[in-house]
Formats: sequence, C-alpha cells, structure tokens
Amino acid sequence: MRFECKGIPVSEGISIARVIVLRQAEIPLCPDAIPEDKVEAELKRFADALAAAREQIEALSQSAAQRLGAEQAEIFSAHLSVLEDPVLEEAVRTRIIDEHRNALYAIADGTAEIAALFQELRDPYLRERAADIQDVGRHILENAAGVQRVNLSHLPEDCIIVARELTPSETVTMDFEHALGFITELGGRTSHTAILARSLEIPAVVGAAGILEQVSGGECAILDALTGSIVIAPTADEIQRFEKKRGDFLREREALSALREQPAQTRDGKRFELCANISGPGDLAGAVRHGAQGVGLYRTEFLYMNNTQFPAEEEQFEAYRAVAAEMGTGRPVIIRTLDIGGDKALPYYAFEPEENPFLGWRAIRMCLDCEDVFKTQLRAILRASVFGTLRIMYPMIISLEELLAANRLLERCKEELRAEGTPFQEDIEVGIMVETPAAVMMADILAQHVDFFSIGTNDLTQYTLAVDRGNSRIANRYDPLHPAVLRAIKRVIDASHAAGKWTGMCGEFAGDPRVTALLAGMDLDEFSMTAASIPYVKKQLRKLDFYEAQLLADRALKASTSAEVLEIVAGRDDT
Ligand code: PEP
Ligand code: MG
Repeated sequence: MRFECKGIPVSEGISIARVIVLRQAEIPLCPDAIPEDKVEAELKRFADALAAAREQIEALSQSAAQRLGAEQAEIFSAHLSVLEDPVLEEAVRTRIIDEHRNALYAIADGTAEIAALFQELRDPYLRERAADIQDVGRHILENAAGVQRVNLSHLPEDCIIVARELTPSETVTMDFEHALGFITELGGRTSHTAILARSLEIPAVVGAAGILEQVSGGECAILDALTGSIVIAPTADEIQRFEKKRGDFLREREALSALREQPAQTRDGKRFELCANISGPGDLAGAVRHGAQGVGLYRTEFLYMNNTQFPAEEEQFEAYRAVAAEMGTGRPVIIRTLDIGGDKALPYYAFEPEENPFLGWRAIRMCLDCEDVFKTQLRAILRASVFGTLRIMYPMIISLEELLAANRLLERCKEELRAEGTPFQEDIEVGIMVETPAAVMMADILAQHVDFFSIGTNDLTQYTLAVDRGNSRIANRYDPLHPAVLRAIKRVIDASHAAGKWTGMCGEFAGDPRVTALLAGMDLDEFSMTAASIPYVKKQLRKLDFYEAQLLADRALKASTSAEVLEIVAGRDDT
C-alpha cells in the first residue's frame, strides 16, 4: 500500500530500491529474583558475555579499519571504552549481587539506566552517545543470551535498509555494494548512521517516525535524502519523476567534484581560502575529499564531551598530532581552544546552574579560571605543532585583557616546553574568534595583538541581535542577513586588513552559497564550513568577478533591512 512520510535528511542523494527491514531478535527479560546459589553462575555468565563482546568489538574495529579506514574504526574505540568503563560493569554486577537479578535482566537494565543518563543531557552530541552505550549493551546481552547477531554482510540485491536504529556495528559490517540507502526511525544529524552514511555518500534519512509499522520488506521505496521524503510503493509516475531527479543530482555532484582540483578564485583571479570545520580527526577524510585547503575550525570540545574525564595532555596531543600530520604543512589547521559551557555540558564536570548560560561562565572565561585545564590543552597543541601547521584560536573573546591573559599562559607553556627540551613551533600563529559585539567594536585594537580573526557568525548573530540561536520560537528573528550583522562583519574584516592581518569566517554563514558573492565582495579572506559545502561555495566563487562582488557588497551594506539584503544577493544568485 502506498505510504508517504518525511524524516531528517542526513546524507544527500536519492535511491529507489526494494526495502529490507531490519528487526532485532526479541530477548525475553525476566525481572524475578534468583536464589542466592545462582548468583555466582549469573556473574560468570555476565563476565563471559563481556569478554566475548570485547573480542567481537575488537574484530569489528579491525575489519572497519581495513574496509572503511581509521575514521570509522574510531567508533569502536569509543565502544571499547564504554565496555571497559567500570561504571557499566558495576551497574550490572550490583543488580546481580544485591538485587538477585539474572544476568540478562541485569545487563539490559544496567545499560538502559546509563544510556538514559546520557539521553537526558542537553547537548545533542552527548545525547546521541547513548546509542553507543545501547549498542554495546546489546552486544553483551546477545552474547549472554546466545543469540546470533543480525548479519547484513551479504545482501541478496540492491536495497534500502529500514530499521528502528542502525547500530555502528551493524552499519560497519554491511554489504555496501547493495545497500543503496538507510531509513531509520530514530537518530539525528550526529548519530553514527548519519556520520557513516555521509562518509560513504549513501543517501540516508533518520527520524522517519512510524515507518516500521508500514513496511514488511520487499516493497519498492523512493528515498529522497535531499528533502527527507520517503514514498513506499510509489506509482510508476513517481518512480519516473524521481529517476530524473536522481540523474540531475548525480550529474550536478559529478560536475562539482570536478572542481576539487580547481583553485578557489574568481574569474578575474582573486583567490580565497576554502577550509573545513571539523570535530576531530575522523572528519579529515571528508575535508580532504572535498578539497579543503586547511581546517578553519577544529571544535576541540568534542574531545572533552565524549570522555569520562578531562582528556589528558597525551590523549589531546595524539588527536592534534593526527590532524596536523594528516593535513601536512601545506594545509594549516586552526585549533579552537576549549569552548564549553553555554549549551555544551561535560558529563564529568558539574557546571553551576546559571540564569543565562549563554552569557555565563563559558569558553575562554572558564579556561582562564581553570588554568590547569587550559594549560594541558595549550601544551598538547604546542607539542603537536611540529607535525604540520597548527594555529591557535581563542573563543568568545570580549576584551584585550582576556586575549593577553590567554597569551601569557601560552607563553608560560612555551617556557616549560623549552626547559624540558620539547620541540614546538616557536612562531605558532594565534588568533581569536570574533563572535561577540564587544570583539567587533574592539577589532582595531585586538587586531594589533593577533595574527588573524575568524568570525563566528553563529554566536555573533545571537549576541548582536539578542536572539537565542537554539530557540525555535524566535528562529525567524535569528538572521545573519540582518544589516547589523553584515556591518559587524565588514567592520572586522576592514580592521584586520588595516593592521595587516587576515579574517576568516567559521560560522554556518560561510558555507551558504547564497552569500558567497557578498562575503567575497566584503573581502573576507578565508571561508570555513562543513566539508560537503566547499564545492558549492567554490562553484559560486569561480563564477564571480571580484569587482562586481565588491559593488554588490557595497549595496548590501547600505540596505536598511534584511529583506533588502536578500533581494540584492538573490539578484545575482544563480545556484
Ligand atoms: C560560531 O559561533 O559561529 C562558531 C563557529 O562556533 P560554535 O558554533 O561552535 O559556537
Ligand atoms: Mg561560537
């Protein structure tokens, strides 16, 4: 029966194929208490299951590294750390020893409780780590119950896989020759299914609520992961229409990928830097594939958020070294120092509740108060700096005092390393994010003390317009095209140039092809964005004439409303 629904598109593309439904085997769980003399046997059953799961996850990690590269294998390092976390083991053992539950119930209940703690966190990235815990829990449970894992490694024909949620271990072992798309009921943009689908360029839609009730397997489906639309049992007309849309999409993507080797320059030869925003070494493959000339923003907070304690210097050094080495000296990497607080919490650190967390103790404010935490990171960056070209960037700066205090601490770290005889890049470049109106107004002064600026339009829009970036009720007021934001951007670029410095942009605005001409015309030097947006922005740049772009920017900067700005940029937009 024909059925239509919508989800969140997380990996673009269009697929038309038969559906395979993935349902996990039911494992019956009995909460009844067991007699005391059975406790030992149940503890052993749990310990055996834990050991077997560890072996399987290690094997999965190796197979993922071979088939898909180190990026995907990293998922399993996270799984192994969940498995080795004494909190999980304790949660299950307590249930068996103190509550006299059998091993199956204790495993399911223990992991569910820990996963639920993550699920309650505000940060979407951490919330989705609950999926890792559930995946690991399921592994242990299946071992304890003697249930065979679902095997997707040999799919009989081209198909679209429909599941409640795909676990990383299911996706990694999958037969990608025949898997043409994923549809899941759960998950968000940063879930592993989404990350994996993007890196393999397999169309995927998540959050398709209720789809499992509508399909039993074998139906034809259209998966439009450009818009998030799904049609089950489509008409012949629909199939024809989507075949055409698919063809157009593939041709466009082919044409864009041909741009990879082309320079990011206007028709009249003005060059710009197009860089990628990354959240860790795992994002580098995509950055390189899309032709990033460097990393304009490495959001290091994920290293802290996806951890059970503040990451040690060595762990950070390894991550920064990997990024520096992978990009090499020709592709600089800007490492943003810890930007935590506000909407980003840490599972192991109790931030005091605040009335206005976005205006509270966050980012550089916290780092300057917690010198040990800050120094650990600065030392790790400095040590990694000899493996490539690293730059340091402080977030949320509002005053010269903050910048100077951060630099004093950096100087102390350099002195320590010199005394230890540890090599580092002596003249490592240091810049700041301009994401507060205070930094905009002080840009001429701050520019004397930095090597570069990077404009964080996500926060700059929020703070300039006093509009919470995460509040859907006022989302229509959150508008980086507002003349106040545009003027702020221009002011920063001009102040940096007057001091002989350069300005980049790493907020989402930089990756919006509608405003490429406008930003280029304002003389922005570097654009940093989600890697997949690079070809789209490059395409726009290569169509431009710099002089015309400057005229367009002049007109936009004189506009009185964002509607006028939009009209001006849309006038030349021909994406
Ligand atoms: C920004 O504020 O524009 C930015 C890039 O930082 P984040 O989105 O991580 O706050
Ligand atoms: Mg920000």
